[in-house]
Amino acid sequence: MRYSGYFLPTYKETPAEAEIVSHQLMLRSGMIRKLASGIYTYLPFGLRSIRKVEAIVREEMNRAGAIEVLMPAVQPAELWQESGRWEYYGRELLRFKDRHNRDACLGPTHEEVITDLIRNDVHSYKQMPVNLYQIQTKFRDEIRPRFGIMRAREFIMKDAYSFDVDEEGAGLSYERMREAYSRIFQRFGLKFRAVEADTGTIGGSYSHEFMVLAETGEDQIVNCGQCDYAANLEKAEIVEKQDPAGENPEDMKPVEEIATPGAGTIEEVTAFLSVPAERLIKTLIYVVDEETVAVLVRGDHELNETKLRNLLGAQSAELADAALIEETTGSPVGFAGPPGIKTRIVADTAVKSMSNAVTGGNREDLHLKNVNMKRDFNVDLFGDLRVIRPGDACPRCGGDIHFGKGIEVGHIFKLGTKYSSALNAVFLDENGAEKTIVMGCYGIGIGRTVAAALEQNHDENGMILPIPIAPFEVTILPLQMHDATVVETAEKIYSDLSDQGVDVLLDDRDERAGVKFNDADLLGIPVRVTVGSRGVKNGEVEIKLRKAADGTTAPLDGASNAVLNQVAALYDSLK
Ligand code: ATP
Ligand code: MG
Repeated sequence: MRYSGYFLPTYKETPAEAEIVSHQLMLRSGMIRKLASGIYTYLPFGLRSIRKVEAIVREEMNRAGAIEVLMPAVQPAELWQESGRWEYYGRELLRFKDRHNRDACLGPTHEEVITDLIRNDVHSYKQMPVNLYQIQTKFRDEIRPRFGIMRAREFIMKDAYSFDVDEEGAGLSYERMREAYSRIFQRFGLKFRAVEADTGTIGGSYSHEFMVLAETGEDQIVNCGQCDYAANLEKAEIVEKQDPAGENPEDMKPVEEIATPGAGTIEEVTAFLSVPAERLIKTLIYVVDEETVAVLVRGDHELNETKLRNLLGAQSAELADAALIEETTGSPVGFAGPPGIKTRIVADTAVKSMSNAVTGGNREDLHLKNVNMKRDFNVDLFGDLRVIRPGDACPRCGGDIHFGKGIEVGHIFKLGTKYSSALNAVFLDENGAEKTIVMGCYGIGIGRTVAAALEQNHDENGMILPIPIAPFEVTILPLQMHDATVVETAEKIYSDLSDQGVDVLLDDRDERAGVKFNDADLLGIPVRVTVGSRGVKNGEVEIKLRKAADGTTAPLDGASNAVLNQVAALYDSLK
């Protein structure tokens, strides 16, 4: 590609609307332009990266035995009503009516459509396993679209769906996708982790999120310093270190009432009473589905709402409002405690080994000291309910837990029979008995992957994308366009490399050397070849990797080969 004839509008300044570096760089380098909130045009330079990501995904999906299809963006409401998600999905689902007044939506995901396809065309165990995938535009009316194509409303996703005759088969399909995903992110040249994710009511550790590691990531990743355990924050399990003293380890002291005027928060109470937060029991009033529940966690611990929902098998868990708290505890917010509460009480495991604890007194400005379980209150149900912290024990090996940040770029999920039951996707097994198909679903955000790659690979001058997903592999900078030898040399290398199938951008603009260097850094093309008057006179050109501080020189006659070697070495380094 010749820069002079290309469409590559760049910005010198960082656009004010972009908060994170990937978004800034995508705008500055002319990869994307915004049309409306969360809706973007992919310009030629950005589209090249998108297409490269897609090509690798396609190759690995095909290699893993998945088969490409392409489903519609517009989906009829009936299917969503059948699955129950027309109600449940909420406002992320963009709904509209056609001219016949029929309800429809723009597909945010395709479980309904693919299950409908399969139930109509798959009737026998002989037709399975089958795994179908597509690379297609999704629409989700995100509440807060931001960070460019990282969290867009309209975005490109690869989604795959597997169909098996039983759980075991579904497990194998899942494993095959997990391996394919690891290969894909490895080939992109990204640092990533596959982390265990919450599966809600489906259960089991049958969901993994693929996280690109980056400081700016929105997701907290929990991992073990000793073994390969990794999970997201919602999911990370806690095995409480066993306290040999067990329940009520200290001698029980008599309950004392203490006035704590105005002290309602954990910080205020610990400061007021000069006790550490570990000695407090935090009592949270929740509405879990329809039921009011008191939830207890240790004062220095934080409740994990996902774990609460899972423990109680509930769809929703929300903090009660001030009125309900007052009705339940008889006191304003901040003074709830377990003694005397009429609702069901559930507690985190760590509460089990607390004794002589401080709790709210269920009256304004009152706390209680020396509260003990069994004597002063009873817990109906214990469970792992708190958010893990750095330094907690790894649930697999007991090692120390560390925290990191990541960006979710892929998600694999064992669905079981959730959609096949709802939509009645059944088949006849080898004995002629009717069974329900077992499903899995597997997504990769194509645009988000490019954005995440940029968060991980840039410097103050611009992007440094890994070569497999960079828009071009090589850029050639002829520094003096009026010097015929310089231009000829650059043209020769350009045509040699193009003939070898290398993606080359020849910066043939009549611009100053400084402009060309700056743009080359911004665009971050992995290999740069500089052709200048002085070098050419000495019979050489400079070859420099974007990620390296210095370049090397290569003789004119061997220049193209030297570049080819550098390109090959960059790919090899990712194997
Ligand atoms: P998130 O929690 O970030 O909203 P999700 O759990 O809703 O993601 P999935 O439904 O699992 O995402 O979709 C599969 C993949 O699609 C995600 O891993 C992500 O890479 C991508 N994706 C999801 N939502 C968006 C979006 N709004 N913009 C760009 N990519 C997205
Ligand atoms: Mg989402």
